[in-house]
Amino acid sequence: MGLEELAVRLNDSDYINWLKAGRCLLILKAALHPFVTQRTRAFHGNLLNQDSLLKEPCANSACRPRGNTLSSACRACSQWQTVILRHHRQRNTTVNWGNCFPPHWRTDHWELAKAYMPRGQGKVKGADQCDASALLNLISHCDCFHTVDLKVVTEVIRYRNELMHSCELCVRDEWMRHFQVALKNILRHFSHVPQMETAGRQMEEMLAADLSMQVSGLDGVDSVDLDGIEFDSVSQQAETSADSIGQWEAELLQERLQELLGADDGDDAKTQDIEQLKMLGGFLQANTDLSQRFSTELRAIKSLEARE
Ligand SMILES: [Zn+2]
Repeated sequence: MGLEELAVRLNDSDYINWLKAGRCLLILKAALHPFVTQRTRAFHGNLLNQDSLLKEPCANSACRPRGNTLSSACRACSQWQTVILRHHRQRNTTVNWGNCFPPHWRTDHWELAKAYMPRGQGKVKGADQCDASALLNLISHCDCFHTVDLKVVTEVIRYRNELMHSCELCVRDEWMRHFQVALKNILRHFSHVPQMETAGRQMEEMLAADLSMQVSGLDGVDSVDLDGIEFDSVSQQAETSADSIGQWEAELLQERLQELLGADDGDDAKTQDIEQLKMLGGFLQANTDLSQRFSTELRAIKSLEARE
């Protein structure tokens, strides 16, 4: 299970901060996705009702993005492109056409939504599979969310990027305090979304929880002894049990790996990304449990390093 190694990682309070902040973003994402799905579906339906050209099926099997560009698309797909740009909240922006499969724009609202997201969303099929960054970017880029205050959303995106781009996977207490303010603001801003109340409570519990105590040293009545480290198996809330800490830790690391490895489509891999990948690879390698879980990704990192 690797719980011993997890316990060691949880000796570092800045790493715990990193995990907790990441967990809060997972909670935020889960709370937002029904709202985002509903809003995006309605937007897609409205577009179809307003423009009969959009109802025509794609007429050209070559309507596929090359890298991040989509050129010489058929009449219907070109019209979708025009409409997508028209509804972009930020003018003169780069649309990540590489996220989209244009022949599905007509039938799938999520294929449309992906045009407003950061790159690397090609394989994602719905809001529930997106990370917080993808959902928040959609909200800040598509004008079907015009009632949402951009400032509140971009603030959380900024913290999310700082968190995920932190090479050491660590954030300080002071950073956490600012982050919590940004979270409170976004929760308040979306207070009309029914899931937000529970999300706020879950975040508060998460931020107050003593994660290191969950994994080590509790005098549990019914505890399991693993190589001298005790794991309390009673009276712990499911949310913060050692297993679930390990699970969301893996989810966050996976998100970061996907972002970095997904960015490597050919000549686009940035030197900075490679450096971050190396550091992340080193971290995974230093922990047997993580290096086993992410063995495929570690191989991909090694082959990238070899190409340099
Ligand atoms: Zn087409």
